[in-house]
Amino acid sequence: MLLREVEYARPSSLEEALRILGGNDGARALAGGQTLINVMKSRAASPDVLVDLAGLSELTRISTGAGGLELGAMVTYTQLASSSEVEVTRPILGEVAATIADVQVRNRGTIGGNICSNDPTNHLPPLLVALDARMTIVGPGGERTVSADDFFLGVYMTAVATGELLTKVTVPPPGGAGDGFAALTIGTEGTCIVSAAASVAGDAARIAIGCVSATPVRATGMEAKLGGDFAEASVREAAKGLGAQLDPPGDVHASADYRRHLAEVMAVRAVLQAADRARS
Ligand SMILES: Cc1cc2nc3c(=O)[nH]c(=O)nc-3n(C[C@H](O)[C@H](O)[C@H](O)COP(=O)(O)OP(=O)(O)OC[C@H]3O[C@@H](n4cnc5c(N)ncnc54)[C@H](O)[C@@H]3O)c2cc1C
Repeated sequence: MLLREVEYARPSSLEEALRILGGNDGARALAGGQTLINVMKSRAASPDVLVDLAGLSELTRISTGAGGLELGAMVTYTQLASSSEVEVTRPILGEVAATIADVQVRNRGTIGGNICSNDPTNHLPPLLVALDARMTIVGPGGERTVSADDFFLGVYMTAVATGELLTKVTVPPPGGAGDGFAALTIGTEGTCIVSAAASVAGDAARIAIGCVSATPVRATGMEAKLGGDFAEASVREAAKGLGAQLDPPGDVHASADYRRHLAEVMAVRAVLQAADRARS
């Protein structure tokens, strides 16, 4: 289906982008367009102005600093998968990005678009919750940072308000942490049916489950039950009961009960991978 007529702006500075977004309630940021253009074609969204972020080179940078790994909002999945900074700090980000959809989507899709759309089946929201990432948002009121735990508010809803932009995602330095990710997908490199991400550092684990609610769900009960014991039998024991605490949807791909079961299986796999990497 063809797009409705829409105005297009390609600002060359963040200030200009914010001015256009702030001056028109119907203006929307355009990142890789892999979600936005499709929802526009299906008439599920009809922005008046597309504010293309492709001209903002500061949003395409990957760097490491005292705060950790800084990923500009326009960093693509292909960049994540091929970045040496990502590989030496939190390689799980590149590994997961390399499995998203196909090469066209990976070349266009961005970390910012992935988390701002917050489709519950997207790979990156649960991963960034497990990694305890922080999101930097700028708007007319200045700059603020929001933890990944507080960033995701609902399907297609995040802490980024109208007129604001996500500029970067900061992932803490590894500090001996190991990270893991597991998902059952619809075919190879397909949409997740249930995903789980984990990060293990010392005795602590952060675990987040995707596709079981509108936003990633922290498995805090399982985190507490682990108590620093990452032996396989203990991890399997700690996962028992996780599914019963979830209220996932059922659909043509999996019933709610099957998703509960998958949540336990994926959480075990993600934690074991994370613990294994934390030890090595
Ligand atoms: C065939 C296909 C299969 C896919 N499979 C998967 C999959 O398995 N897993 C997965 O995770 N994803 C998948 N995707 C989605 C893909 O990852 C998209 O790239 C992603 O969801 C959106 O990223 P984008 O850069 O294309 O953003 P866009 O589509 O340009 O934008 C998405 C939304 O985010 C907003 N936005 C974007 N950037 C910012 C910003 N910096 N600040 C504020 N708002 C912003 C836009 O206004 C828009 O509302 C798939 C897409 C396609 C087309």
